[in-house]
Amino acid sequence: MKISIIGTGYVGLVSGVGFASKGHDVTCIDIVDEKVDKINRAEPPIYEEGLEELLKDVVSNEKLKATTDTGKAVKETELTFICVGTPSKQDGSVDLSGVEKAVQDMVQPLKEKDEYHVFCVKSTVVPGTTEEKVLPILEKSGKIVGEDFGLGMNPEFLREGIALEDFLNPDRIVLGGWDENTLKVLSEAYGRFQVPKLKTDIKTAEMIKYTSNALLATKISFANEISRICESIGIDVYEVMDGVGLDHRLKRDFLNAGAGFGGSCFPKDVKALVNYAKEKDQETKLLNSVLAINEEQPVHIINRLEHISEGVKGKKVAFLGLAFKGGTDDVRETRALPMIKRLLELGADVIGYDPEASENFDELLPGKIRYTDSREEALEDADICIIQNDWNEFKNLKPKDFEPMRGKIIVDSRRLLNRENFTDDLIYIGVGV
Ligand code: NAD
Repeated sequence: MKISIIGTGYVGLVSGVGFASKGHDVTCIDIVDEKVDKINRAEPPIYEEGLEELLKDVVSNEKLKATTDTGKAVKETELTFICVGTPSKQDGSVDLSGVEKAVQDMVQPLKEKDEYHVFCVKSTVVPGTTEEKVLPILEKSGKIVGEDFGLGMNPEFLREGIALEDFLNPDRIVLGGWDENTLKVLSEAYGRFQVPKLKTDIKTAEMIKYTSNALLATKISFANEISRICESIGIDVYEVMDGVGLDHRLKRDFLNAGAGFGGSCFPKDVKALVNYAKEKDQETKLLNSVLAINEEQPVHIINRLEHISEGVKGKKVAFLGLAFKGGTDDVRETRALPMIKRLLELGADVIGYDPEASENFDELLPGKIRYTDSREEALEDADICIIQNDWNEFKNLKPKDFEPMRGKIIVDSRRLLNRENFTDDLIYIGVGV
């Protein structure tokens, strides 16, 4: 099948490479020349495990190419996925300008095309967007939905860091379609994916994505709220959640206390759902609290450190992990930002280290902290070490790994270390214990 994908960020590129690896002929489209050139040279513009190898395969087998020419790509394919960003506006609502611009570019090729074509939104958009915002733009072509073209919505559930693995082996695929013909084309695109496929109308598919992310975010904030109670009474929230998670009605996943949820999806999607509900005159007391807890949690961790360490002013803090999670260079809504801002407010001297994300992080806080190229260098003479994300190299560090430090305090905001190993010499501060 010939597929075009507009927007080659985390979702678009990973989907493109994934579909190409399943045998489809894929054309990736982006407005950024540099990204397009890189993809054609088989160099991924983003970091994701396994992406470079698979991109090399599909480019060299001529199953995937990239272009800036939307018109040509739409004309030469049967199905277009729209994967451009949908960031938050100031009020939390979804900024659709990228999607609208991308769809606008498809009007002329649709007008000039004689064959049936399916347009499918993969970007996360609130219920109603595909039919009320995307469709009217496509209809400017004079073509008729359901006759000349199909319209679909296929939310993406991949997780950055393991995006390719998630795309290729998802728990389920949700296909929202205008009609049976649209659903037939979408099912064909996913023909080689042997996983449950749920076919719905378009609005339901849009709502499934928001509801999934809102529930995952709720589990995280719930775990963080319980963790503060556990800290105050000296018990371990991880042990508590292990006990809770054994109940088959309550899955253990996403009940880990930490620094809160970040990244390009959870914060923006929960805010968008809250805003959308407000437009529909619905209250979101639970989701408002989920967001509030998430804002407080990174500051709570630093305030607790400040209390235990009797002040961080002038102290050298080795801050390990700048990306919002391990395995990615993405710093969107990373919890490192509020944590480091609070540390700087309190007068700490912060040295940041992340295997992939330092450059991106420096754009968020230009010139405010120093960076090192290795974990060991960051720890050299540090008074305090804070672990913020879960890169493999931060997992299971032992007391001897902290020997280069001059101070004794380790803050484990992801609970990656075995606290039993930390006695006498080092002071271990784990979230939720
Ligand atoms: P991204 O910002 O990484 O990528 C978007 C890409 O679209 C960029 O390369 C940009 O240059 C390109 N673009 C913008 N306007 C364009 C246009 N008019 N024509 C062609 N290209 C254009 O975004 P992302 O993280 O891949 O997210 C895309 C969507 O998928 C969002 O709605 C997001 O909420 C959703 N989503 C993201 C994830 C994730 O983990 N990142 C997971 C599930 C869903």
